[in-house]
Amino acid sequence: VKRRAFCHNYPTIPYSVRNMMGNLFIVAAPSGAGKTSLVNALISQHAEIKLSVSHTTRPPREGEVNGKDYHFVDQQTFSAMRDAGKFLESATVFDNSYGTSSDTVKSLLADGFDVILEIDWQGAQQVRNNFPQAIGIFILPPSKATLEQRLRNRGQDNEDVIARRMRDAENEISHYVEFDYIIVNDDFEQALTSLSSIIVAQRHSLAIQKNSQADLITELLAQR
Ligand code: GDP
Ligand code: ADP
Ligand code: 5GP
Repeated sequence: VKRRAFCHNYPTIPYSVRNMMGNLFIVAAPSGAGKTSLVNALISQHAEIKLSVSHTTRPPREGEVNGKDYHFVDQQTFSAMRDAGKFLESATVFDNSYGTSSDTVKSLLADGFDVILEIDWQGAQQVRNNFPQAIGIFILPPSKATLEQRLRNRGQDNEDVIARRMRDAENEISHYVEFDYIIVNDDFEQALTSLSSIIVAQRHSLAIQKNSQADLITELLAQR
């Protein structure tokens, strides 16, 4: 039964646990579209939504904190984790390895949190294969020029890295059709409202509410 043992509607999970299961969201975008800014703003406003902190072999940028932005590891540690099956997904992006810890995601979902994965299209495909209930959200920049401007304004990557990320942007964007929702990040506050609306709406879906409100529904439908 593959790795679906932790999905919210998997029937062998005890009912009490199933009640608490959160939803899994994949947020993808070309580098510089604003996904990290949007997701960080979202989680600062919503205690019930958690970001899965990825492992990466990329060196930390100035200001990035180990354990908060990423778990920064060397290639040897990364490969050992991958070989030991520790990753729900992993991929090579811009010549660096990135991966999502399976244990972290499982335990956050089991604790009832909605979980966001900020990952690339390759990782998104792997997550969907193992976890078809995952909801995909793709962030688009308002234009190619704006994307490049944002990479420059971020002031974190050198010219070579920016050129590489712009070259790869088209490939990443070509996968937008594999996602359930599309958000154009032009006005930041509007994009943030769209992102939180999608996540809040999902929590109100019948599939979730029939479990989380089971006691209420039983009470409301009880014969006198
Ligand atoms: P940024 O998104 O431009 O800030 O650049 P990053 O260096 O943070 O991420 C580089 C690429 O790796 C992006 O395309 C991310 O979507 C991807 N990425 C980050 N974390 C993960 C992960 O855990 N798994 C996978 N598969 N990709 C990841
Ligand atoms: P990503 O994680 O997708 O690579 P970031 O969140 O790092 O993107 O955003 C890239 C840059 O663009 C950052 O400097 C960020 O402050 C800026 N940015 C993000 N969203 C907007 C927006 N709606 N308008 C203007 N600048 C933005
Ligand atoms: P950055 O190095 O700028 O932080 O991220 C570059 C790209 O790597 C981003 O587009 C991001 O989505 C992707 N990325 C970050 N973490 C992961 C991860 O754990 N898995 C995958 N597949 N991609 C990731």
